[in-house]
Amino acid sequence: MATFQLNEVIRLYEPCNILLSLLCKAGIKPGNGTVSHFRNQHKLKGNELQQVLTFAASIQHLSDPATVDLPQDGSVAIDGLPQLKGYSCMSCRYMTINRDNAVAHQRTEAHTVVGGPGWTVVTLQSFGQRKHARYWVVKRDGAVGDRVVGDRVARALGGLASSLRACEEILEKEAAERRKTVEEVGTVTSRSRWVTYMGWIKHLRQANRVEPATTGDADEL
Ligand SMILES: [Zn+2]
Ligand SMILES: [Zn+2]
Repeated sequence: MATFQLNEVIRLYEPCNILLSLLCKAGIKPGNGTVSHFRNQHKLKGNELQQVLTFAASIQHLSDPATVDLPQDGSVAIDGLPQLKGYSCMSCRYMTINRDNAVAHQRTEAHTVVGGPGWTVVTLQSFGQRKHARYWVVKRDGAVGDRVVGDRVARALGGLASSLRACEEILEKEAAERRKTVEEVGTVTSRSRWVTYMGWIKHLRQANRVEPATTGDADEL
């Protein structure tokens, strides 16, 4: 580095209280993580390393990029972090920069997708953990932002529509069940009433037929 400029090496992303290394465009762990990062990865030493560490030490309650709450989807891209072409699942919050993973995700999740691949191309950022990167969608410019918002609305509406469909199905099933029950009850009831009625008629007829014999009225007649 010809001339050392602290503001070209490290900066604070205030909304998340995360230190960013501008040399590798990534979030860095606070405390010892900061020391080892700049000493080992960027070979800083002496006065330069001291300046970085003094700056880092001046900030209270720094967050760890591995665990911090991520910025909202659709936020303005953060300066100092790369903007990556990525794929965002339209059914859940799965995001990846690997197209094969996006395709595989659709296969394993078996989301109900109506047309299209089930994901959209977006611009992603992450604080830069390579193994378990956590991404969020950023708007790079108006068009991308609009599309991100459009996607979110579409996703929300899609969710709403499928919830409605599920509700309708449940209601329909319940209505059918009720109709069936009513019909069955009706059938059973009228049949049993009919049977009971017929039974009484039969019983009364028999009783009437038997009655003359047992009472001996017939003899009297
Ligand atoms: Zn770095
Ligand atoms: Zn998904």
